[in-house]
Amino acid sequence: MSLNSVRTVAIVVPVYNEEDNIEHFTKSVDGVMANLPYKYEILFVDDGSKDKSREILRRLEEENPNVSAIFLARNFGHQLALTCGLDNADADAVITMDGDMQHPPELIPSLLKKWEEGFEVVQTIRETTEGVSFFKRLTSKYYYKILNLISDVPIQPGGSDFRLMDKKVVKCFREFREHARFIRGMIGAMGFRQTKISFVAPPRFAGVSKFSLRKMAHFALDGILAYSSVPLRWAFYAGIFSAICSIILLIHVFYTAYLGDAVAGWATITVCILFFGGMQMMFLGIIGEYIGRIFEETKGRPLYLIGKNKKE
Ligand code: UDP
Ligand code: MG
Repeated sequence: MSLNSVRTVAIVVPVYNEEDNIEHFTKSVDGVMANLPYKYEILFVDDGSKDKSREILRRLEEENPNVSAIFLARNFGHQLALTCGLDNADADAVITMDGDMQHPPELIPSLLKKWEEGFEVVQTIRETTEGVSFFKRLTSKYYYKILNLISDVPIQPGGSDFRLMDKKVVKCFREFREHARFIRGMIGAMGFRQTKISFVAPPRFAGVSKFSLRKMAHFALDGILAYSSVPLRWAFYAGIFSAICSIILLIHVFYTAYLGDAVAGWATITVCILFFGGMQMMFLGIIGEYIGRIFEETKGRPLYLIGKNKKE
């Protein structure tokens, strides 16, 4: 690349029912990019919205030369919508961010500055989120603690999907085709020259969070199961633990039989059956989660289906 050619930036934004945010977001990004010496594209990935988002995006695509939109055939979830955007963004640097203003566009110049300094991944770290429930903050904090305890790659607490990736990194990322994905963990584990920037996430501009408790729990589980087989090892340790317990119990049984007191074992037996039955159920559940994921991956289905491509 010659020194005086203009570098290009793509801003990938997954949106799901964000009718009240899209225009405000676009204006705000346009405002920020107007002062920077880059050619840019805002690439929205509509994740099967059911509100007016689709019409708004279609109109913006016509009116604004910097906007393009891909429409997925249905709701595939944030991580897959993001993947679709990364697969289709064609630029020297790609920035991924949410369309609800919780990832402040004012931070874009700082991301680009780090990129110009030579960093290939600029990850943002959420210090706090204004106006988020105590429950979400608490679960998020402990989730990352547990995740780091059991995962082989370090995952930064407060990591968000607001980041800049160099073209090189995006190209490599496209080689990763697993369905259950926790993109922030994948990128963290990829290497390259990475750096971090902290920010305080403001409350949403409009609308409500699209992550229900169920979606959140599923996403959290993906993060754990995709990054380690430690839960499977727990089953092994728990097996050893229960074997030791049963040996101790056996000694106890022989001892009471020796004393001629054998009938008084009802409580012990009931407790044992419940305890070990529960353990078996739990670990079958863990193994089942892995098998379910193996099943999903072996089908080798496409990660997402595009209903309508850019400027189509
Ligand atoms: N999103 C999406 N598909 C979904 C859920 C969310 O594309 O199934 C988008 C959403 O429109 C937003 C971003 O992902 O641009 C982050 O979602 P949200 O703000 O609801 O998450 P939160 O900030 O509450 O974690
Ligand atoms: Mg949000």
